Amino acid sequence: MNYDRILIRYGEISLKGRNRNKFIDKLRKNVRLALSSFPNIKIEASRDRMYVLLNGENGLEIIEKLKHIFGIQSFSPAIKVERELEEIKNASLELVRSLFKQGKTFKVTAKRSDKTFELNTDELNHAIGGHLLKNIAGLRVDVKNPDINLQVEVRKEAVYLSCEIIPGAGGLPLGTSGKAMLMLSGGIDSPVAGYLAMRRGLEIEAVHFFSPPFTSERAKEKVIDLSKKLAEISGCVIKLHIVPFTDVQQAIREQVPENYSMTSTRRMMLRITDEIRKKQDGLAIVTGESLGQVASQTLESMYAINEVTNTPILRPLISMDKTDIIKIADKINTLDISNRPYEDCCTIFVPSSPKTKPRRDKVNQFESYFDFEPLIQEAVQEVETLTIRPDRDIRQEINDLF
Ligand code: ATP
Ligand code: MG
Repeated sequence: MNYDRILIRYGEISLKGRNRNKFIDKLRKNVRLALSSFPNIKIEASRDRMYVLLNGENGLEIIEKLKHIFGIQSFSPAIKVERELEEIKNASLELVRSLFKQGKTFKVTAKRSDKTFELNTDELNHAIGGHLLKNIAGLRVDVKNPDINLQVEVRKEAVYLSCEIIPGAGGLPLGTSGKAMLMLSGGIDSPVAGYLAMRRGLEIEAVHFFSPPFTSERAKEKVIDLSKKLAEISGCVIKLHIVPFTDVQQAIREQVPENYSMTSTRRMMLRITDEIRKKQDGLAIVTGESLGQVASQTLESMYAINEVTNTPILRPLISMDKTDIIKIADKINTLDISNRPYEDCCTIFVPSSPKTKPRRDKVNQFESYFDFEPLIQEAVQEVETLTIRPDRDIRQEINDLF
């Protein structure tokens, strides 16, 4: 039997009170965008769930796409039937028959969100279960651990049958939490931080610091490829701001003692990112920092670096171990790109013994002998902004949709 629709459960959106309609509307648009290569589908969204009506489109391919959409708790391929017991029994039989193989067990789990239906859940379980047992030879009941769990949901408008609950990506619909600038290096951590931020509904623009000729075009390509992966995951266009950082780094090298150069470098990066954030109307900055991972990520370092802005700095990885970060990088397919061996602007200027406990007063003193502001403004002026598209072909369709 072919399913005619996919039932989508929202999960956390349901908790969002007055914002709920906004969330649902955004999710509906994101689903439509992700499924733009299936022209015949129809989306029906209500307060507590959404349906993708397949209208003959490939359900299995659609399921694969839905798995990556943020804001979906779980989903189930389903069949809609009239609220007539005979119809429910027959459709159930057809569905279970299509999944049945000798030796398989089943149970029926009826649920009534509309209590006016003539049978209660026990009576429904029995009526449907009995019909299946009578008509499928070899079928057995197992209420604890069935191979087929037929869910029968009675609602006001109809009854829905499904046998499978597929976990969704969770989180919140992309774009419902505002916009932030992701400081994206070529490393393993920052793309994962970007993924987790997007999963929480944040729209991301990436900022990358690039120091030619000390860093090569290949290093830039790596960051473009990482941005492309993030764009693919989100299904949305991502802006990538590439900041020419050589002059600032040279000035730091000349002005700041070597053991404080890492601290100053981070502070300058943050100042520049914050300027770009202002121009782009973002409200936060996301980094891939994880507490204690390297010298620049001790609490003392963060305290000294963070001084240059009071914009919220979001650090989704702050309490995660590297092994867990690597697992996510692997899952979202950024790990192989991050592992390419090209140099980053920070690794080439890395001091032999960076301060693990830098002090604010010291770094301020070192930076006070030179006016970095003109160099910062110049870097901001010369930013190259690339628009990274998930896939060229679907771009036009995306435009057509909105
Ligand atoms: P990553 O794996 O993300 O490179 P890391 O463990 O190498 O992180 P650091 O080099 O200390 O750690 O960088 C900490 C954070 O600073 C990065 O996660 C990233 O958000 C930001 N960052 C570092 N280098 C750059 C860069 N060249 N351009 C933009 N952001 C950067
Ligand atoms: Mg790095």
